Amino acid sequence: MTPYILVAEDEDPVVELLRYNLEREGYEVGVAKDGEEALVMMKERAPDLLLLDWMLPKVTGIEVCRQTRSRSETRNLPIIMVTARTEESDRIRGLDTGADDYIAKPFSTTELMARIRAVMRRIRPGLAEDVQSCAGVEINRSSHTVMRDGQELHLGPTEFRLLDYLIQRPGRVFSREQLLDSVWGADVYVEARTVDVHIGRLRKALNKHSDVDLIRTVRSAGYSFVPPKDL
Ligand code: CA
Repeated sequence: MTPYILVAEDEDPVVELLRYNLEREGYEVGVAKDGEEALVMMKERAPDLLLLDWMLPKVTGIEVCRQTRSRSETRNLPIIMVTARTEESDRIRGLDTGADDYIAKPFSTTELMARIRAVMRRIRPGLAEDVQSCAGVEINRSSHTVMRDGQELHLGPTEFRLLDYLIQRPGRVFSREQLLDSVWGADVYVEARTVDVHIGRLRKALNKHSDVDLIRTVRSAGYSFVPPKDL
């Protein structure tokens, strides 16, 4: 099931930026333009995560946060506060009210997406575990280690993130552009060819002790991580 994120934000350019990036990451996105609408939408359908602007018309973000926490259906809903306020006291107040995380505007989309992923990982099965295994490959996100058939592999940071991304969706083919957006971030300028270079390094590292290649190249489409039985 696609995770559903509700964006409560009144500034259209920010809404569009968030919608674009969240949809690229595979989330379903709902938008509320003020606090009242956010509360109504959450009563109709509880999201998996709320991205909440602090300064909202009608009902403020802080009040939305408090009401969300006071309802049993949304008591444990992850909330990330987004705000122009950067003062430490506001930050603490936001977290006191029950936000799980806090990010100040202007924010880096790459950083925000990473924080959302971290929150989703805590709440979604599959993404929840620090350790994930597939086809004899085990990735440990807390110790940043990768093993294949019990032997440790040495991956660079980019290869690690690539593998982390691909192994969560085995068999699915991703284009270079999708990988660039998801692994490098949409606001980073990197040539598509860079993906080929890092895929090459990832493949080499993964296959160091094995001749079964788990990275499939799909001509003119992209790459996927594929268990041997599917090759
Ligand atoms: Ca606002």
